[in-house]
Amino acid sequence: METAPILDRPVDHRELMALDRCDSCGARAWVRAVIGPSELLFCGHHAAVHLDALRSTADFIQDDRDQMPA
Ligand SMILES: [Zn+2]
Repeated sequence: METAPILDRPVDHRELMALDRCDSCGARAWVRAVIGPSELLFCGHHAAVHLDALRSTADFIQDDRDQMPA
């Protein structure tokens, strides 16, 4: 199956801000999955939970988890 690339700097990269919130729990988002005209945002925890499913549906995934505070 084709899987979405996970990118640090996708073509339409935008910084994830403190206002960007996980669609599952409302924590700060660190991963952005673009699916056609829409996007989903996930915190580190929910990104890990959903990443496999996202990779089969998303066009690409922007992964900023390396910028998470330790
Ligand atoms: Zn979450």
